[in-house]
Amino acid sequence: MILNSHFSELPAHYLFHDIDLRVKAYKAQHPDEHLLRMGIGDVTRPLPRVIVDAMQQAAEELAHEETFRGYCPENGYEWLRQAIIDHFFIPKNIHFQPDEVFVSEGAGSDLGNLSDLFDSNNHVAIMDPTYPAYVDANIMAGRKITLLPCLKENHFVPDLPAQPIDIIYLCFPNNPTGAVLTRDQLRLWVEYAQHNHSLIIFDAAYEAFISSPDIPHSIYEIEGAREVAVEVHSFSKSAGFTSVRCGFVVVPFETGLQPLWMRRQCTKYNGTAYVSQRAAEATFTTEGQKGIHENIRYYKTTASLLLNGLRDAGLEVYGGENAPYIWCNAPNGWDSWTFFEHLLHRCQVVSTPGVGFGQCGEGFVRFSSFANRSDVITSLQRIKERL
Ligand SMILES: *Cc1c(COP(=O)(O)O)cnc(C)c1O
Repeated sequence: MILNSHFSELPAHYLFHDIDLRVKAYKAQHPDEHLLRMGIGDVTRPLPRVIVDAMQQAAEELAHEETFRGYCPENGYEWLRQAIIDHFFIPKNIHFQPDEVFVSEGAGSDLGNLSDLFDSNNHVAIMDPTYPAYVDANIMAGRKITLLPCLKENHFVPDLPAQPIDIIYLCFPNNPTGAVLTRDQLRLWVEYAQHNHSLIIFDAAYEAFISSPDIPHSIYEIEGAREVAVEVHSFSKSAGFTSVRCGFVVVPFETGLQPLWMRRQCTKYNGTAYVSQRAAEATFTTEGQKGIHENIRYYKTTASLLLNGLRDAGLEVYGGENAPYIWCNAPNGWDSWTFFEHLLHRCQVVSTPGVGFGQCGEGFVRFSSFANRSDVITSLQRIKERL
């Protein structure tokens, strides 16, 4: 047995482990302090009742001979794929066939698995800082990676690559910077991909947090994108499904990838849980939409409290308007970990050091609007007084 040697090239992602160690060390010295956890990358609001009811009903169906179900279709039930098209794409005047939509257990797996479709000789471009899954999947496959710096100077929007790139990962609204692309900016990427025959893998996990009208929710709002882009969606952040697990990928026929992805999924994936698919379907009901939008509004209110509060405290902050994350420049020339330590020791605030998302994240920390509201208010008071 010979191991995949590329695993030894993976960067050590000890970020959350390192945060844990430092928090534990602080706790050991200050056992009575309540920590204000502002680094949370996971949703915290409960699911709307109508979604839970749909899951209970789906589970009940499995208890009866007449309504029992076995394996689900590998690409998801057509009623869910059609509901996704009807509720998400048709209102944007974007038209897909149900066979171009693939239901999955979530975007994390899809973003890694899409790598199966491409030769190892492809040259890949990934934003820096970034969600780590894109980098890791391509290192495992032995591909050459060019990092696209996202800095204050370019407003955390990468410049178009100077050389031809085969596969480009874009994530907007962005985790961790909270940056977004306007329609005109996204159009430049679609044109780049058309010109260079590249493929864009567009991660739209945070589209539900967009409120500005000039920010596209889908890359397919740009003409010509269906030839050059696949789009990855998740119910995790939009509907609070991080434990339920459900997402989908759009693979337009025009990309030529649809038969390959179908083949890949039929071989390596045996379908998303029936209960999760019914839960996803329930997000599109009137009551479901009302419930999930209430939760998103709640997070967005927290985000604007954070954004304004940090700004009032004299900090330089980005993102947070069309995204749940706020990207905060460390004051006094501190690096990410120094800022993290000051926040922890002086304010009992736990943040996420930006350098953990890539070298270009150095000098920043990420604050999350998924944090508890009263903890946010206390954090802001302490940051103003003590930092
Ligand atoms: C949370 C997140 C996802 C969603 O992952 P799931 O596997 O669907 O829970 C995708 N992309 C980014 C950038 C994320 O932060």
